[in-house]
Amino acid sequence: MTSEPILFTSTNRSVPPTDLRAALLQGQAADRGLFMPVTVPPLGVDELMSLVGRPYAEIAWSVLRRFTAGVLDDAKLRALCADAYDFAVPLERVQGRRWLMRLDQGPTGSFKDFAARMMARWMGALMEGGHEDLVILTATSGDTGSAVAHAYHGVPRVRSVVLFPLAEVSARQRRQMTTLGGNVTTFAVDGKFDDCQAMVKRAFADPDLAGLRLSSANSINIGRLLPQSVYYVYAYLRLADVAAREPIVFSVPSGNFGDLMGAVLATRMGVPISRIVIATNANDEVPRFFATGRYEKIVPSRVCISNAMNVGHPSNLARLVDAYGGWMDESGLLREPPDLARLRRDFCAVSISDDETRATIREAWQRHATLLEPHGAVGWAGLQRFLAESGALADPLAVSIETAHPAKFPEEIQALLGIDPELPPSLAGIESKPEQYGHLTTEYVPFREFLKERFLQA
Ligand SMILES: *Cc1c(COP(=O)(O)O)cnc(C)c1O
Repeated sequence: MTSEPILFTSTNRSVPPTDLRAALLQGQAADRGLFMPVTVPPLGVDELMSLVGRPYAEIAWSVLRRFTAGVLDDAKLRALCADAYDFAVPLERVQGRRWLMRLDQGPTGSFKDFAARMMARWMGALMEGGHEDLVILTATSGDTGSAVAHAYHGVPRVRSVVLFPLAEVSARQRRQMTTLGGNVTTFAVDGKFDDCQAMVKRAFADPDLAGLRLSSANSINIGRLLPQSVYYVYAYLRLADVAAREPIVFSVPSGNFGDLMGAVLATRMGVPISRIVIATNANDEVPRFFATGRYEKIVPSRVCISNAMNVGHPSNLARLVDAYGGWMDESGLLREPPDLARLRRDFCAVSISDDETRATIREAWQRHATLLEPHGAVGWAGLQRFLAESGALADPLAVSIETAHPAKFPEEIQALLGIDPELPPSLAGIESKPEQYGHLTTEYVPFREFLKERFLQA
């Protein structure tokens, strides 16, 4: 392994390549594109073989050090990985060669914990020894905010400010964000998610706040993407015949396509992934795009029970297009088409309705005693459809991703299965912790004044 830093370029192609440090701290490139690695360092068969049987944190270190080389000390990264990944990553056999990977054992019961915890620690390490604080602004409709708030909680030199729409998050989601305190400040906004996002975007562009070091923890940040490649490598090492380079199929329930780009990165590293199923809910703009070659956003996005995937224009789609030789700009306009034939060969994009999602939750429980929640059920249904369509001959090794803990959706599970999923230890007890949060209207100026007063040194 060399220690030459990996460089990152923008999908809009008009800024010079930069290292991981700058890409992480900037979030979005100056030309409003998204950062992508210029080269993806390969994981050879020998190296994969040497990682078989290793714990998750060690595999994370082995994968991520290729990207952090020259930017972050190797021993430091190892310690950060051990600290971030101190929870289980269960692989559950559902039927034959079909598996479920539960990414729901982190502190907020969301797969977003994997990326947010690593990115927070990277940012903390990069700010260490300095005199400046980094202020992370996050607009959330639920899951991102709690994962981000938890991830940054207690990280030195980093302050986290989270805005959430008061009426749009569940009480449990709100409590996950508002019971932390310390370096995490939360505001309930009397508006919609889009209002929260607009306030955050305005703050980033506000010359009055130029004295602040602001950054973003949304999934446009490359720091959210790189750690999401690790669990695909991990599943492969745990389940496949590595020496024989056995191919594997992954099914990824997708909204903003950050999780999916993790799988794409793993493919580029050389993990033998034969197919990636992109499973969306009724927001089917990408399955349609793959079928027709024409891309149209869905505005407004459709409301489905897998609510974290109600996305009518995935923010990471520009990255997928870029990885296949095309160019999508920041407005979602396709300036140059990607290689559709290759996309169709590497992926199978399917849309799953709410009815199918509910039927899948019931069937998985009744037939296999496997408990799914709506997002994981979209992934599982997508995998079944792909396997059915690819013919009786093939029985590939296949893993579907479960992105949230079923206990986060008690009403839906109760109605479908008549059971009350038990809260994991990480989520238990939040009902009784004191909450602390401010209130904001959708007016921008009071938000700016808060940021100036709290974080700008006189
Ligand atoms: C965010 C989220 C998704 C979608 O992930 P993307 O990376 O945005 O595609 C799926 N399921 C759950 C539970 C989520 O919170």
